[in-house]
Amino acid sequence: MNPGKPDPPAGASERDEILAQLAAHGRFLGGLSSVGVAWPPPGVEVAAGVPVGASGAAERPEDPEKALQAVKDDIGDCRRCRLASGRKTIVYGQGNPRAELMFIGEGPGAEEDEQGLAFVGRAGHLLTDIIEKGLRMRRADVWIGNVIKCRPPQNRNPEPDEILACQPFLEAQIRAIRPRVLVGLGKFGAQWLLKTAQPITRLRGQVGEYEGIPVMPTYHPAYLLRNPAGKKDVWEDMKTVLRLLGRPVPGE
Ligand code: URA
Repeated sequence: MNPGKPDPPAGASERDEILAQLAAHGRFLGGLSSVGVAWPPPGVEVAAGVPVGASGAAERPEDPEKALQAVKDDIGDCRRCRLASGRKTIVYGQGNPRAELMFIGEGPGAEEDEQGLAFVGRAGHLLTDIIEKGLRMRRADVWIGNVIKCRPPQNRNPEPDEILACQPFLEAQIRAIRPRVLVGLGKFGAQWLLKTAQPITRLRGQVGEYEGIPVMPTYHPAYLLRNPAGKKDVWEDMKTVLRLLGRPVPGE
């Protein structure tokens, strides 16, 4: 900054940039509740609805491929949290950059860490069935990712600081793809998207919202492998997803 020269007045794009930064900061603060930090603090009132400018979150970028590549470049050889030391590969997530539907799971397991791809183990095979046999869509036409991009040791749950370290990248991926519907798989995917600490048993089946995009929280495929009785609830949720997408629902 040159102290002798006043800053030029904020132009439209600069204003949009500032508003987008404010919105991102608001989302960060909102995200704290999903990792167990009360926000706003008790007794403090915060005005609702941080505005988003014309270049803000509500629009898909012209070139989602380029935007996704920029996220990858930004991640680089990430060392932002302790998971870096135990991972083999960073699992960015994969699929159609122009997907109408995006699935968000918890984090990579052993198989995903090996292959560098999301949902390629047993739970992933069940997810493929949900997409291809249930939704009658091609797996390659949707986008599949996770709240964290590196495998935790012994597949333990992600820690709050690991989720926060990874948060900007998933936010940027969703903004790049801007799907018509998001599905939160299990506790971590659903709570991250909905910015809540409510249990998945409460959230499941109720359509919520992430930056104006409808969110369907549902059970994680790994849970379904242990509790096949939950599949009928997931099928109900997938029928709602089809309705949200304006696609035909089998049997209706
Ligand atoms: N479980 C997840 O949540 N994500 C994966 O990628 C694989 C299993």
